[in-house]
Amino acid sequence: MTTVALKDVTKVFPDGTVAVDRVNLDVEDGEFLVLLGPSGCGKSTVLRMVAGLEDPSSGVVLLDGEVANEIPPRDRRIAMVFQDFALYPHMTVNENISFPLRLSGVEPAPRAERVADVAGALGIGELLGRRPGQLSGGQRQRVAMGRAIVRRPGLFLMDEPLSNLDSGLRAELRAEISGLVRELGVSCMYVTHDQAEALTMADRVAIMRKGVLQDVGTPTEVYGRPATLYVAAFLGSPRMNLIEASVYVHLDRYVALNLGEQALYLPWDDIRARVISHYHGERIVIGMRAEALTPVAPDAPGDVLQGRIRYLEHHGHESLAFVDVGATAVIVDELGAAAVEVEEEPVSPFQRLGQAVQRLTGRFGDR
Ligand code: ATP
Repeated sequence: MTTVALKDVTKVFPDGTVAVDRVNLDVEDGEFLVLLGPSGCGKSTVLRMVAGLEDPSSGVVLLDGEVANEIPPRDRRIAMVFQDFALYPHMTVNENISFPLRLSGVEPAPRAERVADVAGALGIGELLGRRPGQLSGGQRQRVAMGRAIVRRPGLFLMDEPLSNLDSGLRAELRAEISGLVRELGVSCMYVTHDQAEALTMADRVAIMRKGVLQDVGTPTEVYGRPATLYVAAFLGSPRMNLIEASVYVHLDRYVALNLGEQALYLPWDDIRARVISHYHGERIVIGMRAEALTPVAPDAPGDVLQGRIRYLEHHGHESLAFVDVGATAVIVDELGAAAVEVEEEPVSPFQRLGQAVQRLTGRFGDR
């Protein structure tokens, strides 16, 4: 299947807008890559350059290792699916799906066979005689997928294909689409601003901000070890706690992280202590996921932070405690912990550094 490589790709529109700024990015054979970022960060422009609908201002797009800048869109073995589905309202489902085959001159008999195959795979075999106006949103989306698949492309480009659907259907279709794309083995670039979609569907996620690629990695990598402060603050709900600390190394014994009036101590045999020790004397930002922190009883031994629980938020499957640690507000997942209560006085301790401490690049104010 088609591989994609963007090398130093920049897109400046005639009005001077820098939509994409020196992006380097690969999509491997059969990979499902999700481009994630807020509205206007340049995701669609990247996709449109891969499709050949926009030319890069500088840099190159490679398809299967060949420079594609001069290859017209119709010769790229690419199928696009958009959020508005772009079905032809006057055609039946059958005609909509078979349309690309008709355009490329496939005979009626093999055409019908391929449409039946695709419709069967998508569970819309019963709907072939209907028109788009007689379908639900989810069914229309399946027809749009069918029309993309039927050409047997080497690469799918999908631009927010689920954003017009309600949340229940979105969750159902995201599993369906990623399953289907993987079954077909086709490479895929998928644009969304929905992080749940990105983290559940992607082999790798590429996170963009203001035209610049911030981080690329598996969902576990970008969630657990974000490359920049922006990604740390952007990914995850609740968002990652980011706390400023000064580093003091007490050689061969421990590293102290001073957070105002309190400190955390990492023993020297903890790998994180040795990583953080490079920043002796500096102020750094430590990132802690809520789920890496657990409330403990006031007299619990060990490395504990004291904080005042300001309020609790119950989400059904979890409860979050919002805790003031000195001047810093920290969110703690109290799942499975001893019951905690909102405190009037600063006595309620909570705990430990968990898995998430890391040195994040950038400055604290960068968010
Ligand atoms: P969304 O999620 O809202 O679709 P996006 O991340 O896909 O956003 P793009 O559509 O790629 O973002 O747009 C990136 C930037 O380029 C935006 O600032 C946008 O206003 C600008 N832009 C897009 N197309 C043009 C154009 N034809 N001329 C000028 N500026 C443009």
